[in-house]
Amino acid sequence: MARKKDCSTDALRERLTPEVFHVTQEKGTEPPFTGRYHDCKTSGMYVCTCCGAELFSSDTKFDSGSGWPSFFAAVDPQRIRIERDVSHGMVREEVLCAGCGAHLGHLFPDGPQPTGQRYCINSASLDLDAID
Ligand code: FE
Repeated sequence: MARKKDCSTDALRERLTPEVFHVTQEKGTEPPFTGRYHDCKTSGMYVCTCCGAELFSSDTKFDSGSGWPSFFAAVDPQRIRIERDVSHGMVREEVLCAGCGAHLGHLFPDGPQPTGQRYCINSASLDLDAID
């Protein structure tokens, strides 16, 4: 179950670090290979760091070599919102949390099977609920 959290801008500004606030609320991108999950092999559920929604399972995580945590599928497509992003001179598919609107990362069509998709997600947008 998703944990209930206050996701008003004021609450988030108080609760999140400046970097996490920038990535999730201002569509920032953490530098590659700097986040806490790009190299993480721990089993568990990655949840939205803002609202707690369960977004990505470690079962779908793969090593893309990009420097960002990468998944070939979301736990449930309903929990993800995709929007066209034309910033930075590129046309990309932006990935947002459907629950709270937090920016998560981008979706690319060059992932592994079975989906062929690559959800390229900022560590800053995620919290891992590890399976003990
Ligand atoms: Fe969220």
